[in-house]
Amino acid sequence: MFVKADLIKNDIFDIDYKKLKNDGIKLIIFDLDSTIMRSKSGSYDTRTLELFEEIKTMFQVCVMSNNTNEKYIKKVQRITPFEVYGMVKKPNPYFIKQYIEKYKFENNEVVIIGDRPLTDILVGNKIGINSILVDSINRKEESKLTRFVRRLERLFLIK
Ligand SMILES: [Mg+2]
Repeated sequence: MFVKADLIKNDIFDIDYKKLKNDGIKLIIFDLDSTIMRSKSGSYDTRTLELFEEIKTMFQVCVMSNNTNEKYIKKVQRITPFEVYGMVKKPNPYFIKQYIEKYKFENNEVVIIGDRPLTDILVGNKIGINSILVDSINRKEESKLTRFVRRLERLFLIK
């Protein structure tokens, strides 16, 4: 099983959102943990909130997380300026597909942005939407083991 991300970027700040807009993207689906929020921190950096304010005027934006902790997701919902869903079960495409159909987006108008090839990028490939792989937002604080697992998972990427 191999996966292909359309773009590979350092982090969410390294993405050219104006270009996405010009390329016809209308819906951005963010992964939560390690993509837009430091793992288990339950809060956003100021820089992230500023980015949200900018891009929510340009796109429909939502967050699709596999996190099953209801309390945590509720907390995140309160501090996020767009919709947040937990228990999405990526790489199962069901929930995200339903969402895209509900809002009548074409697949080529949608991009999923996440840090995990085998969940975020794989689900994007399964549905046929665009995908951007980013490195962990808290990569500098991650343990050697976590970094090692990340490198292993990237072996499934086709460049
Ligand atoms: Mg993640």
